[in-house]
Amino acid sequence: MKCQRCGKVAQINLRIYNLKLCNDCFLEFFSRRVRSTIEKFKMANLNDKILVAVSGGKDSLSLWLLLYELGFSVRGLYINLGIENFSEKAQEKVEKFSQEFGLELKIVNIKDIFGRGVKELARIAHRAPCRVCGMLRRYIMNQEAKEFNCIATGHTLDDEASSLLGNILYWREGYLARQSPILEEEGSLRKKIKPFSFTSEEEIVIYARLKNIDFFEERCPLSKGATSFVYKEVFNLLEKRMPAIKLGFYKEFLRKKFFKDKKEVNLNPCKICGYLTVDSICNFCKLKEKVKNLN
Ligand code: AMP
Ligand code: ZN
Repeated sequence: MKCQRCGKVAQINLRIYNLKLCNDCFLEFFSRRVRSTIEKFKMANLNDKILVAVSGGKDSLSLWLLLYELGFSVRGLYINLGIENFSEKAQEKVEKFSQEFGLELKIVNIKDIFGRGVKELARIAHRAPCRVCGMLRRYIMNQEAKEFNCIATGHTLDDEASSLLGNILYWREGYLARQSPILEEEGSLRKKIKPFSFTSEEEIVIYARLKNIDFFEERCPLSKGATSFVYKEVFNLLEKRMPAIKLGFYKEFLRKKFFKDKKEVNLNPCKICGYLTVDSICNFCKLKEKVKNLN
């Protein structure tokens, strides 16, 4: 097998592009794709400071390193959600990574704010843990990004295509209107970017392996039964029979702009903290009140 770029021996076969590459040409191909995604969607320029939200998994750790290699000024943010037997282990991986590659890291611990972890908070809020976790993560990322130009997350092509499928199956028009590799700044909400929107997890695993990234592989114990895994399985099945279907599906959705002129809900600043919300008080502040009343 020969590298289709340089003619040397190819170690990598990317089915999604029907492309055989050697390790060096793969790294070049990988970073060029992410750089062109950043440029095409005007996500950031080299003077920008980017807060990279990292979970300890392959996607966000790879993104953190790649953005640094591309010359951006980056800081990692790990949010410890106090999930037993999980959050501490993920944090250790993130800390080890940050030391190994000399990258600046900030850690925010939910227990320091609420005195308890997300599982208990979900019970108090009468909501599913994944919803409370998502709400807490979004809020804290925005809080921590005040001095930054944008927040980057490790969402991949697989994440974007499968959440698109989920949103279409239920015709969630509001979500479809907002689904994009970039969300511009809006009031207290910082600009959010997903530079891996056109990069598959298959490619990220190869990058992480070539860079010797020691990432956290466990699934969150609270997310058992999450439908996102089902959509990903569906796509992997489809992808086996029809390589590049994932990429085509997502790209064509963005090109067609079906839902772009849908009217979005009106957001107002929270009366307590100023964070943009649909109600008069945001869910983060409501949860804080509930916890305070228990004490
Ligand atoms: P997930 O929703 O778990 O698929 O994660 C999507 C993205 O959110 C990841 O790629 C990270 O950028 C970010 N993220 C997930 N968990 C955390 C965390 N505990 N702290 C900071 N960022 C996170
Ligand atoms: Zn608030």
